[in-house]
This record gives sequence, structure tokens and C-alpha cells, in this order.
Amino acid sequence: MPVVDTAALLHWPIERLRGCIAAYSQLQELERLSPPRVMLVEAAGIDWRNEPVALAQAAAAKTGDLARLSQVDLEVLALTIASGEVLHTDDYSLQNVCRAQGLSFAAVSNKASKQQWRWELRCTGCKAKVPVTSKEPRDCDICGSPMLVKRGR
Ligand SMILES: [Zn+2]
Repeated sequence: MPVVDTAALLHWPIERLRGCIAAYSQLQELERLSPPRVMLVEAAGIDWRNEPVALAQAAAAKTGDLARLSQVDLEVLALTIASGEVLHTDDYSLQNVCRAQGLSFAAVSNKASKQQWRWELRCTGCKAKVPVTSKEPRDCDICGSPMLVKRGR
């Protein structure tokens, strides 16, 4: 059964969600986003799971997507890594990490992205480039200007 991200929990027909794998934290996210949807989804017999996110974090750091992924995103990615099932997500960063790791993914609604890319930090002052290694914003080591996350080439 596929792993589904929160967009699928929100938009897929309940029949299609039956038996799908999702993270416990997505249920809390759903309670915030759409309380009326929670009861329907709870009746769908989702396979709620919980996996440690260390491998997912390492995988996301490799492509520079870590700063773009929420804790819930990382938990969804952890389920995908642990189960080896197809991840259904429209999140381009999750798709990007899956592609780099050789994990299968499919779109929820939009078309899946086809391009591989990596994110990097670029200095707004001297234009220096460094890899994204954490979620924290940082300043340039060379000139002290703030650094922004940009798509690398
Ligand atoms: Zn700089």
C-alpha cells in the first residue's frame, strides 16, 4: 500500500485511502487543516505508523532539501524509506529527495517533477555558495551578509 502525504489525506476519495500508510503526526496536521475531514479519514482504516526520522534527515540534507521540509514531511519520508512503498506527494522537495534516493513516488494531483536539482545557500553580499546543512538561517562566513536558499545548478 502506498504512503500518502497530507494532501492525499485531504483530497483523495476515502475508498482510495483505505489501507494506505501515513504518519501519526499527519492526523494532528489534519485536525488543524480540516476538522470535518478527520472523522472520515479515521474511518478509512489508514495504517498509521511512526518511524525515526534520522535516515530521512540525512537523505534530505544530501540534496539540500532539509530546510524546505517540515517535521511532518520528514516523518512521511521516513515511512517511505522504511516501507519501500510508493510515496504519493505533490511536494517537489520530497519528490526530489525520493529521486536522489531511488525511492518511488507519484503525484497526488499535480504532475510529478521530472528534473533533479539541489538547493544551496547563496550569500546576498559576495555571492559565495555553500551546501545547505541545517534548517537554521545563517550568515556568510566570508562577508557576514545573510545567506538565502537558492536552486543550485
Ligand atoms: Zn558573503
